[in-house]
Amino acid sequence: YAPNIRPVIRQLDDAAINRIAAGEVVERPASAVKELLENAIDAGAKRISVDVADGGKTLIRVTDDGCGIAAEDLPLALSRHATSKIDGSDLLNIHTFGFRGEALPSLGAVGRLTITSRVPGEPAAEISVAGGAVGAVKPAALNSGTVITLRDLFYATPARLKFLRTDRAEAQAITDVVKRLAMAEPFVRFELRDVSNDPRTVFKAEAQGGDVVAALKGRLRDVLGAEFTDNAIAIDAERDGLHLTGFAALPTYSRGAAVAQFLYVNGRPVKDKLLTGALRAAYFDFLSRDRHPAAALFVDCDPQRVDVNVHPAKSEVRFRDPGVARGLIVSGLRHALAEAGHRASTTVAG
Ligand code: ADP
Ligand code: MG
Repeated sequence: YAPNIRPVIRQLDDAAINRIAAGEVVERPASAVKELLENAIDAGAKRISVDVADGGKTLIRVTDDGCGIAAEDLPLALSRHATSKIDGSDLLNIHTFGFRGEALPSLGAVGRLTITSRVPGEPAAEISVAGGAVGAVKPAALNSGTVITLRDLFYATPARLKFLRTDRAEAQAITDVVKRLAMAEPFVRFELRDVSNDPRTVFKAEAQGGDVVAALKGRLRDVLGAEFTDNAIAIDAERDGLHLTGFAALPTYSRGAAVAQFLYVNGRPVKDKLLTGALRAAYFDFLSRDRHPAAALFVDCDPQRVDVNVHPAKSEVRFRDPGVARGLIVSGLRHALAEAGHRASTTVAG
């Protein structure tokens, strides 16, 4: 940098802008899978399958039976800040996973992306983009829904590629993402396949039926195992318009590490210090210091009461009233645990 040279301000081109944005949105194959799954869920899909090869580094393909994208909208789906989910007038009122219109253009900037899609009553079409260069819309063959294929993620950014972990570690991160979202969507069928060499199903969860609590319990059994659901109590609490539901394990089923804590805000998986802190506080009287509770908890509220616009990867949230959120979790869980303990001790006594 030479301070005596007059600086020139230039407008970056779209390809550069997308690549910069991609650095925030797409950290690793699992973040691409997360974005594509969220899009499928936003599209109302009831069946979603994910195929990956080599830990997602060479291939990620997400197939859904959702509403599809019209042929004339395919170029828009790949352009920045283009979204069908909000109109920009009410950023406080978001009911979908997506709203930034950043995922597909970002993925198209760091990999070879093809979208094949069909809306009911119209022919299927597809569009491809590689290294930011968008191709023409072409006719395609597809019965319904959308197939998004992402090949060779980060092929154009060797520095990023080098920072990826082993195929095995990246594949594990993808499995975690699929399971985490599957827990929040019990009425949707999920299947994750590894198609590297001998294709095999890594994870599968059939769509659950029944009411929400039964469906959630069934899904949690499929994802976390019957040992969890057999030892967990259903939670249902409310405070000042914030609702807490889900399942929390009895203290006897605690873990040596905080590996089985799944927290969601308005259906969105979050990693939030406030909420995990509240979870720990709720079990404080029931667990020794080296034990960690297991739980899958869902906080639901009016979207206006929580800001999901904190981080591009959207795993952090900000409550308008953090004290209410914390209090809801602490008192809701304590109450349920105390009641379960009371029931257990009176059963023994009787
Ligand atoms: P966002 O999800 O924030 O809107 P994306 O870049 O992820 O942004 O997607 C852009 C648009 O493409 C979406 O708003 C949606 O209209 C469309 N889209 C993406 N994936 C799908 C899908 N699987 N099914 C139907 N439409 C989709
Ligand atoms: Mg999206």
